[in-house]
Amino acid sequence: MIPHKCPKCEGLMTEGFIVDATYGANVVSRWVEGPPERVFFGGLKIRGKTVHHVQSWRCQGCGFLENYAPK
Ligand SMILES: [Zn+2]
Repeated sequence: MIPHKCPKCEGLMTEGFIVDATYGANVVSRWVEGPPERVFFGGLKIRGKTVHHVQSWRCQGCGFLENYAPK
């Protein structure tokens, strides 16, 4: 993959991901299309929506995060 350069300080960026902890499991955060809709038991509605896993790049210089939600 092409190395990412920080848009703030031009530092080197490292690929990673933002983790969500759920009921004892660690999962990658996902991007969901549209505004959040609550469901009866306090969660968020995801079924029927477009979902992408989130890729996150962190600048080694200033800590800036750049997120991507590829196909
Ligand atoms: Zn930076």
